[in-house]
Amino acid sequence: MTTIKRKVSLLEYNTFGIDATAEYFAEYHSIAELRDILHDAKVQSLPVLPVGCGSNLLFTSDNFEGVVLRSGIRDINCVRENDEELILEAGSGLMWDDFVAYTVEKGFWGAENLSLVPGVVGAAAVQNIGAYGVEFKDIVQSVKTIERKSLEPRTLPVEACRYGYRSSIFKQKTHGQHIVTSVQFRLSKHPRPQLGYGHLEAAVRERGKVNLRNIRETIIGIRRSKLPDTRQTGSAGSFFLNPVISEERFREFLQKYPAMPHYTAESGKVKIPAAWLIEYCGWKGKRVGAAGVHEHQALVLVNHGGAKGQEILQLARDIQSSVSKQFDIRLDPEVEIIG
Ligand SMILES: Cc1cc2nc3c(=O)[nH]c(=O)nc-3n(C[C@H](O)[C@H](O)[C@H](O)COP(=O)(O)OP(=O)(O)OC[C@H]3O[C@@H](n4cnc5c(N)ncnc54)[C@H](O)[C@@H]3O)c2cc1C
Repeated sequence: MTTIKRKVSLLEYNTFGIDATAEYFAEYHSIAELRDILHDAKVQSLPVLPVGCGSNLLFTSDNFEGVVLRSGIRDINCVRENDEELILEAGSGLMWDDFVAYTVEKGFWGAENLSLVPGVVGAAAVQNIGAYGVEFKDIVQSVKTIERKSLEPRTLPVEACRYGYRSSIFKQKTHGQHIVTSVQFRLSKHPRPQLGYGHLEAAVRERGKVNLRNIRETIIGIRRSKLPDTRQTGSAGSFFLNPVISEERFREFLQKYPAMPHYTAESGKVKIPAAWLIEYCGWKGKRVGAAGVHEHQALVLVNHGGAKGQEILQLARDIQSSVSKQFDIRLDPEVEIIG
């Protein structure tokens, strides 16, 4: 029998280090336990928030008046394999980087560029995490869920998940309606290095041979040198999405801002690094009370200690309005605001 706890501190379930409290909190270790929780009368009448490590969440109220659900399904199984590839199924509560470490250890190719992205497997399926030229959608075969209302299990093939830049069907209209229980991945038994991103190939070769271990270690090294350690400084990584604009509009920008960096996005559009826009507006390293902008990464908002979610939200709004004033570009948060 699973217990639904009351008044649980969420301090250890969000990397911003916001001291919010969940009215109810439950962890499930099997599909049967998840169904029991969702079947409970009080759970049915309240908002439900599935949470992994809270590395993409900002709690802006002291209390979350609903049920925080956490997956404790953490097993990895091989579903089928042949000489070329295999299908691995991983539980939604498994730490993402433990999954990547496992694939690298076993010699399976596909997940290595996503080394050290914080969070759990279930959230990676919701977020379509991406790093170093690879996205979650590139290696997923299907996502298994329990539908909140009907309690029915569903298997969504990758095409049905409608993956885009940090988006999926789970984040859109149906947010909170599908609880992810496990994910099936398609991985290769043969080398498939993806080293086209920035200077990644040179950095790997500097370390030695192009193999899974060296790719993983290189990426871990780069990430550790660039990103704040959330155990020391609260943050949720990139706070805003990189805006995508038309090529025509970008050409106009280039006349006024010749140094504006850019990347090619889908369907002929252009992606502008939000960090550059924020830095241009003078926000890098700024501090407002206990909230601030990281001194080396303008896209990362930080909690210097004891900040309220509202303080960080206000800082985010001020940044949005100065970028909008300067460039007439809207910055959308990547981080989910809960409150
Ligand atoms: C330092 C740092 C670096 C980061 N770097 C990257 C990066 O390189 N690339 C990148 O893409 N992201 C990055 N992120 C963002 C973050 O790691 C991802 O968004 C990650 O997937 C969040 O995982 P989580 O377990 O913390 O999810 P949470 O923040 O707890 O939840 C995220 C979303 O998933 C939902 N969710 C969680 N579990 C389930 C489930 N079982 N079923 C249904 N919904 C669920 C939540 O409701 C929420 O909508 C970074 C964050 C930090 C702090």
